[in-house]
Amino acid sequence: MTFHIITLFPETIEPYLKSSIVGKAEQKGLVKVKYYNLLDFSSNKHKKVDDRPYGGGPGMVLQIEPIIKALNSALKNKSKLKVKVILFSPAGKQFTSKMAQSLASRYKHIVLIAGRYEGVDARLKKIIEDRLFAKGGKIDELSIGPYVLTGGELPAMLLVDTISRQIKGVLGKEESLEERRLGVGVPAYTRPEVFAYRGKKYRVPRVLTSGNHAEIQKWREKSKKGKS
Ligand code: SAM
Repeated sequence: MTFHIITLFPETIEPYLKSSIVGKAEQKGLVKVKYYNLLDFSSNKHKKVDDRPYGGGPGMVLQIEPIIKALNSALKNKSKLKVKVILFSPAGKQFTSKMAQSLASRYKHIVLIAGRYEGVDARLKKIIEDRLFAKGGKIDELSIGPYVLTGGELPAMLLVDTISRQIKGVLGKEESLEERRLGVGVPAYTRPEVFAYRGKKYRVPRVLTSGNHAEIQKWREKSKKGKS
């Protein structure tokens, strides 16, 4: 899987991804992350990639041309059937784990377009759809949650992380086993069995130290749903 991140600030993303599980996956050759700095695709001598909004308003809007150029560079010689292009927007469809699974299994290239300021010129979506999906396909406009961030860099990191987790071999054996077997939301404990703090003892649930695997499994299922 190759992630292509189109952004004004690649330097904010790269150190995090390099030092996370994604970095290890890159070393193993399971994942690749490529960066496209919008400034490199500006045809303006001052490397300008934004301009004032039509209709007025205080913020700036990212222009179409540098983004399209970056996209063309990312998609050169790629089969569009294997490519997904994602635009970030706080008003987009809520990104979920299920989407991460589906993206990981269906595509070889995921292009993430990180907006800034007042976002990207609204014509971009239609232009990309016309360029990529002549037969009427859709570009995904995704939100990572009901709040407004300053830019699409955090959403890009979040998607690369969650999608990479779904790729075989990316997670260590133990992590992937836990995730597949138990799902999410199961409480975890480690040593010491009893933690004493300010005169009070905090004990690990006894069932977890019982050695009874069937009971442990039952307890985990129950606590996952918040029933114990
Ligand atoms: N005026 C824009 C709007 O109402 O859609 C908000 C732009 S926001 C300040 C700048 C960029 O941050 C967006 O273009 C998008 O790339 C990203 N962004 C902000 N909040 C986001 C969210 N909740 N999910 C995904 N991307 C987000």
